[in-house]
Amino acid sequence: MTRKDWDTYFMDIAYMASTRSQCGRRHVGAVLVQGKKLLGTAYNGAPMGVPDCSEAGCMLVEEFELVNADGGEQVVKKQRCIRTIHAEQNLLLFTDREDREGSVVYVTDQPCWTCANMLANSGIAEIVYHRPYPKDAAKVRGLMDSRGMRFRMLEQYEPPAGTLTEVHN
Ligand SMILES: [Zn+2]
Ligand SMILES: [Zn+2]
Repeated sequence: MTRKDWDTYFMDIAYMASTRSQCGRRHVGAVLVQGKKLLGTAYNGAPMGVPDCSEAGCMLVEEFELVNADGGEQVVKKQRCIRTIHAEQNLLLFTDREDREGSVVYVTDQPCWTCANMLANSGIAEIVYHRPYPKDAAKVRGLMDSRGMRFRMLEQYEPPAGTLTEVHN
């Protein structure tokens, strides 16, 4: 067996963290790495001591989104669970600013706009993700560029067996 490279090693840990999530819509895991050292792990979930999605059900909101399809613009209705704190936000809540300066975040899913905005102001220098999230991709990419942050997708990566769950958008 060949030795795992660092990207695979840390993304595997992010996927392991994601298995703690109780949200039926999306299991997201994130880890903070400073110079090959693991400084924190997080997943999406309700605040501590508050019923989570498996107990109380997802807290769904409906949103209308303008999408480009078949050469025209279409309004599409989408649902989103707002019960959980996103994995990236929990990671920021449980790590120190000092530790984050120049660090790398490995996250199973491409961050949403809000998380990307927070990460951009958190001291983190690089974001590495696996599953794309097309909704905010262009906006987030533009933000990373103007902030001078590295932003990479692991295209060849395969999550560890048993850690991958279906995503409901
Ligand atoms: Zn949920
Ligand atoms: Zn998010």
